[in-house]
Amino acid sequence: MAVGVRWVWQLPQHLLALALWSWLKARGKLVSVQEDPSPPGNIICRIKDSYSGVSLGRYIFMGDRCTDETLCHERGHSFQSLATGPLYLLLIGLPSAVGNNLWDRLMHQSWSHARRVQWYYRRYPEAGSDRLGNLPRGRSGLGGEQ
Ligand SMILES: [Zn+2]
Repeated sequence: MAVGVRWVWQLPQHLLALALWSWLKARGKLVSVQEDPSPPGNIICRIKDSYSGVSLGRYIFMGDRCTDETLCHERGHSFQSLATGPLYLLLIGLPSAVGNNLWDRLMHQSWSHARRVQWYYRRYPEAGSDRLGNLPRGRSGLGGEQ
């Protein structure tokens, strides 16, 4: 998909990415911005002193403390974004942010890190993102951060 067509197809994600990029830039939290040579050809924006990752259209925002597992997982979300276009935030973003991330933070505080990771990455849409990002978590018992 041509970059211009891709930009319009994922417009809601790109508008959020622009807002997040501006917010991070204004606070001096943006460490680097670079093209990802691996498919689907993202722009990776590294965040200072963070372990978090989020995929918004062509843009992946991830902490400078994240591992390659996070990058593979977020690439998987990018493929989901390409497939769902303007419905991504409703079909993928909302279930991931609220049904998985927020729910886990509120309801699983007494769980071990390993149990939380296992629960989180087996759920929709995280398991699909791992699969699309070619991350063998769950298949090989790999752990990872959220
Ligand atoms: Zn995810």
